[in-house]
Amino acid sequence: MNAEIIAVGSELLLGQITNTNARFLSGQLALIGINVYFHTVVGDNAGRLKQALEIAERRSDLVVITGGLGPTKDDLTKETIAAHLGVGLETDKVAMESIELFFKRTNRVMSENNRKQALILEGSQVLPNDHGMAPGMVLKKGEKLYMLLPGPPSEMEPMFLSYGAQALTSRQSSQEQIVSRVLRFFGIGEAMLENEIEDLIDSQSNPTIAPLASEGEVTLRLTAKHSILESAIELLDETEKEILGRVGDYFYGYDDTSLMNELAKKLKETGLTLACAESLTGGMFQQEFTSIPGAGSSLKGGVVCYTNEVKASVLHVKKETIENEGVVSAKCAAELAENAAQLMKADIGISFTGVAGPDELEGKPVGTVYIGISQIGKPAHVEKLNLGGGRKANRIRTVKYGCHFLLKQ
Ligand code: ATP
Ligand code: MG
Repeated sequence: MNAEIIAVGSELLLGQITNTNARFLSGQLALIGINVYFHTVVGDNAGRLKQALEIAERRSDLVVITGGLGPTKDDLTKETIAAHLGVGLETDKVAMESIELFFKRTNRVMSENNRKQALILEGSQVLPNDHGMAPGMVLKKGEKLYMLLPGPPSEMEPMFLSYGAQALTSRQSSQEQIVSRVLRFFGIGEAMLENEIEDLIDSQSNPTIAPLASEGEVTLRLTAKHSILESAIELLDETEKEILGRVGDYFYGYDDTSLMNELAKKLKETGLTLACAESLTGGMFQQEFTSIPGAGSSLKGGVVCYTNEVKASVLHVKKETIENEGVVSAKCAAELAENAAQLMKADIGISFTGVAGPDELEGKPVGTVYIGISQIGKPAHVEKLNLGGGRKANRIRTVKYGCHFLLKQ
C-alpha cells in the first residue's frame, strides 16, 4: 500500500507552524509497511482541498488528511470530502456523548458548532479522540482508503497510535514486518561516508539505506521488510555488519542516542569523573552534559574561563603561554585541561579554546579550535580543529568533538 499525506491548514502555508503531522505520520506509516510517496499541504479552502484530493487519489491507495476537523468556519475537511466523494455526514452517537460530557465536566456551554464535531462520513470507521473532541475516521471508497485525523498533534498522535495504525494494518493484505534501525556517525562527512558505502546504497533494496546529515553528524537509517520479524532483524544485522566493517571507526550509537548521551553512559560505566575548562564553548558542554538525567554524578565541575585573566588566575595558565603562544593554542588548551583536572580532583580534564567567530583572534582564523584532554597528573593530549562554520555551528561542533574525543579515549 502506498500513501499520501495531505495536511490542511493555511497557517502551514504561511509558515507559522511546521508540518510536524506529516513527519510523525510518515515515520509511523513506514513502521507498518506503508510507503509514503507524497506530502501535500493545502490551505483552509474547499476548492483547493478538492484539487489536492483528486491528485492524491490518482497516485495513492491511502490518503491521510490532517486538520480542519474542528468546529469553526474554516474547518471544512469533512464537508469537502463528503461532497467530493458523494457520501453524507451523520452524527456519531459516541462522539456526541463524549462532547456533551466534556462540556458538562468543564462547566462550559456547548455551542451548536460543537455538534459539527460529532459528524462523521457515512459508513466510516470512527477513531476515538481521547485528547479532544473531534473524532477521526477511516473510510473505504472504491479502491481507495481515506483517513481523517485532527490537526492538533496532541490529539492526532495518540489517536493514530491507539486506533489509526491498527485500523490500517487490519486492512492491509500482506502482514509484512518492517523494522528500522538508525546508525549514527560522527567525525566523517556525509559525502565521504556515502562514498565508502555507495555500492551498498545503490544495490540494496532490502534493507534500504537512507543517509541523513545534520549538525556535523551523519545517520544511516536501515529499513528491512520480511514476513517474519526475526528475519527482518537478521537482514538489518547483516547490512549493519557490512557498513561498520568499512566506517565503524566513526560509528557511535543507535537510534535516538546522542554523543553526549553515549559519553554520559561511558563515564557512568567506568566511574571516571570530569572537570571542564570552557572558553570558546562558554559552558555549553556542561549545560548539555548535565541535561542528561543521572549524568551529573560524573561531573566534578567546571570553569567558564572566558577572559585571559580568568584563564591565568583561576586555572593557572602560565603567563608565558598567554604571551608567547596566545590563548588559542595547543599549549593553553593543555594547561587548561591539566589544571582543571588537578584543581577539581577529577580523573579527566577537558578544555575548549578557540575562535568561534565572527572575528579572528590573535591572528588565528575563525574556526581554529583546540580541545585538550588530560588524565589527572598526566600531560594533556590536544586535538586541533579547523571548523569552517559560523559562530553557532562552531560552538555546537566543538562540544560534539569534545564528546567524540572523550569517547575515543
Ligand atoms: P481544532 O479542533 O483545534 O480546530 P482541527 O482538526 O480543526 O482542530 P486545525 O484547525 O487545522 O485542526 O489545526 C489546529 C491546530 O493544530 C493548528 O493551529 C496547529 O497548531 C495544529 N496543526 C494543524 N495541522 C498541523 C500540522 N500539519 N502539523 C503540526 N501542527 C498542526
Ligand atoms: Mg480547526
